[in-house]
Amino acid sequence: MPSLSLPPLPPLPSAGQIEALEQELNRHAPGLKVLRAPGELEKLSNDFHGYSPVLRKLLAGCRGQLVACPSSVQEVMAVAGACGRHGVPLTVRGAGTGNYGQCVPLAGGVVLEMTGLHRVRSVDGTTGVVEAEAGCLLAELDRQLLLHGRALRLAPSTYRTATLGGFIAGGSGGIGSLRWGFLRDPGHLLGLEVVTLEPEPRLLQLEGPACEPLNHAYGTNGILTALRLATTEALGWWQMVVGFEEDGQALEAAQGLPRTALLLQELCLLEAQLAAALPWPQGCPAAQPGESRLLLLLAPDAVAGASWWLRTRGGTVVWQEPEATSRGLPLRALTWNHTTLHWRARHPDWTYLQMLLPQPEGPFLQGLRATWGDSLHWHLEGVRQEGTCRLAGLPVLRDQGIGALQRLMDQCREGGAMVFDPHVFTVEDGGLGVIDSQQVGCKRSLDPLGLLNPGKLRGWWDRPGATTG
Ligand SMILES: Cc1cc2nc3c(=O)[nH]c(=O)nc-3n(C[C@H](O)[C@H](O)[C@H](O)COP(=O)(O)OP(=O)(O)OC[C@H]3O[C@@H](n4cnc5c(N)ncnc54)[C@H](O)[C@@H]3O)c2cc1C
Repeated sequence: MPSLSLPPLPPLPSAGQIEALEQELNRHAPGLKVLRAPGELEKLSNDFHGYSPVLRKLLAGCRGQLVACPSSVQEVMAVAGACGRHGVPLTVRGAGTGNYGQCVPLAGGVVLEMTGLHRVRSVDGTTGVVEAEAGCLLAELDRQLLLHGRALRLAPSTYRTATLGGFIAGGSGGIGSLRWGFLRDPGHLLGLEVVTLEPEPRLLQLEGPACEPLNHAYGTNGILTALRLATTEALGWWQMVVGFEEDGQALEAAQGLPRTALLLQELCLLEAQLAAALPWPQGCPAAQPGESRLLLLLAPDAVAGASWWLRTRGGTVVWQEPEATSRGLPLRALTWNHTTLHWRARHPDWTYLQMLLPQPEGPFLQGLRATWGDSLHWHLEGVRQEGTCRLAGLPVLRDQGIGALQRLMDQCREGGAMVFDPHVFTVEDGGLGVIDSQQVGCKRSLDPLGLLNPGKLRGWWDRPGATTG
């Protein structure tokens, strides 16, 4: 059940505490940009949690009291030290595109805006391993990787605006998950540079398994200043849109295509009502009534084979173009939660869910259609889950209150789906629901005062003897 209340939190810092902290920052980090204007505090304390009616209500009015915008690791350490000495909470912020309220400060304090740390430090010419600062935008990082013939393995559909640190700390996967699985799968994140939150902060270099507790921890157990990632060979992806008159044929194609030897980077299936409502790249015709659509990113050598394979299964290729030369909206900006974004632009009273579908998917989807009718539209994404081709679901649904939301999630779980509830604000509840003792242990060691993003790690405020989040 989504929580309808906030956890126990540290008291909101007093105006005097914030004043003293700012004066210390002026002395120790004179070049640091600090923002205090109410409009800026509000803007930089927000993210995309508004897709959830539950989070919208719960997080209303939560905001930071000061925003610090560092442009060097030394400035990050100055802010962390000042927060540690003055007992002020600190919430790290990348680009603020998270959709679980991950970077909304629940207990006031400082928002640390990281986009000023945006250098790509190195790309290893032999292994392709990249080291970049946490505030680097993903599209810019990919652009620099391309100069070395390399590319990111995984990217969210917010690729053009999101940061590397925010993706690792708050994201899970996205474009590329069909091929490369999810961010927490071993082999993607190779190393981290992290600043602790203490009166005298430390700068640590972590390798391999030591990074795991900080991967998808919502910035609750360390401030990431740089990351080392494995990359893949750069390929000039083609975009392809395929129309189907029959829902069943579209689903079979989505199940079967990833099992061929055709190299795909993205596969997204939109039910007809969604396809009819979305904007399309320049030159791509709008969907016909009743037409479901398969959206693909595929390797140049897979274009002809995929067209043939899909035609023999009831599909019609309605548009295809190389991504690099395409104009207008890129196809990737219609996938993952961008489908929700475009749908909600027309239907603001709708919300969404996220889940891994059980197999076979057909009977499960039919069962939900029978119960929810026109109040739920399917959007599926091809993913690789522990090495196996699966379909994830990001359906949009009419907001009929928290009771209906809960009934739908119960029905999905009873049908065998793994639901990743997007109407919750803790690391655990948005994932598998279980406390990860390594994440909590890491917080104990890197944030002993519990000042990093309070309230977001349930394992911290649920631990024996805890009084606040
Ligand atoms: C339309 C839409 C589509 C989306 N599509 C996807 C998708 O395909 N896949 C996906 O995984 N997500 C998706 N998301 C969620 C989000 O965009 C991504 O997870 C994105 O990578 C977050 O990056 P950000 O820079 O905006 O992070 P933020 O939102 O700023 O932060 C996310 C979390 O990371 C923490 N954080 C940020 N930087 C650091 C740091 N340097 N050190 C420690 N903690 C840090 C923050 O405190 C916060 O808890 C989508 C969201 C929207 C609104």
